Amino acid sequence: MRNAKDTSLDVAENLANVRRLISAAEAARNNSDAPVELIAVSKMHSVETIKMALASGHRVFGENRVQETQKKWPDQRDRYPDLSLHLIGPLQTNKSADAVELFDVIQTVDRPKLARALASHIQKSSRNPECMIQVNIGDEAQKAGVSIADFPDLLAQCRGEFDLPISGVMCIPPVSENPAPYFALLAKLADRHDLKTLSMGMTGDYETAIKFGATSVRVGTGIFGPRPTIV
Ligand SMILES: *Cc1c(COP(=O)(O)O)cnc(C)c1O
Repeated sequence: MRNAKDTSLDVAENLANVRRLISAAEAARNNSDAPVELIAVSKMHSVETIKMALASGHRVFGENRVQETQKKWPDQRDRYPDLSLHLIGPLQTNKSADAVELFDVIQTVDRPKLARALASHIQKSSRNPECMIQVNIGDEAQKAGVSIADFPDLLAQCRGEFDLPISGVMCIPPVSENPAPYFALLAKLADRHDLKTLSMGMTGDYETAIKFGATSVRVGTGIFGPRPTIV
């Protein structure tokens, strides 16, 4: 297991490598799209490890749990005002107020009850996190995200009934399958509904995701190494 004291872990070098591969994938898709945003997924990693990424200038991070984020991030938020924290894990409705306070982007809106709660907390708060809808792109029983069939209704409710602006969509394709058709499907869905932000692609497949139009990629292992089991 790797940790901050393990000299084989060079976060700055990993970040530079990932950025290089992102640039190459951007160039290969041969268009004038905005640069791809790299979200460094720091879930399960210690503050010590995260500080290596901050020290090298990185400011955009992804976490999947509210409580873990409350423990790890407030000090860094004070130190780095330009920090951007993305929630990429499932959110319980009763934690939506905390999520509004903690995160700059909430990528995992996936049901009306949660969307309604987020909208209500945003209205009462001085914070205004960007919200995205997570789509269960492979229609997997155990996976979070709204089904493709229910997506249009949820989006319409967010835009109309709840007044919760939605900037884009995110997905996690089925693990043991070729992700390309799923990335293509999410891109088509976003395009059809006039959504600009496409969060797709992780360590194993972010170059493919960029080829299919990803505007954000979420990379954990490729930057921080294997996740420790205890924070
Ligand atoms: C953990 C996680 C990632 C990062 O996965 P890696 O394979 O380590 O890059 C990306 N997206 C989500 C939603 C995750 O939960």
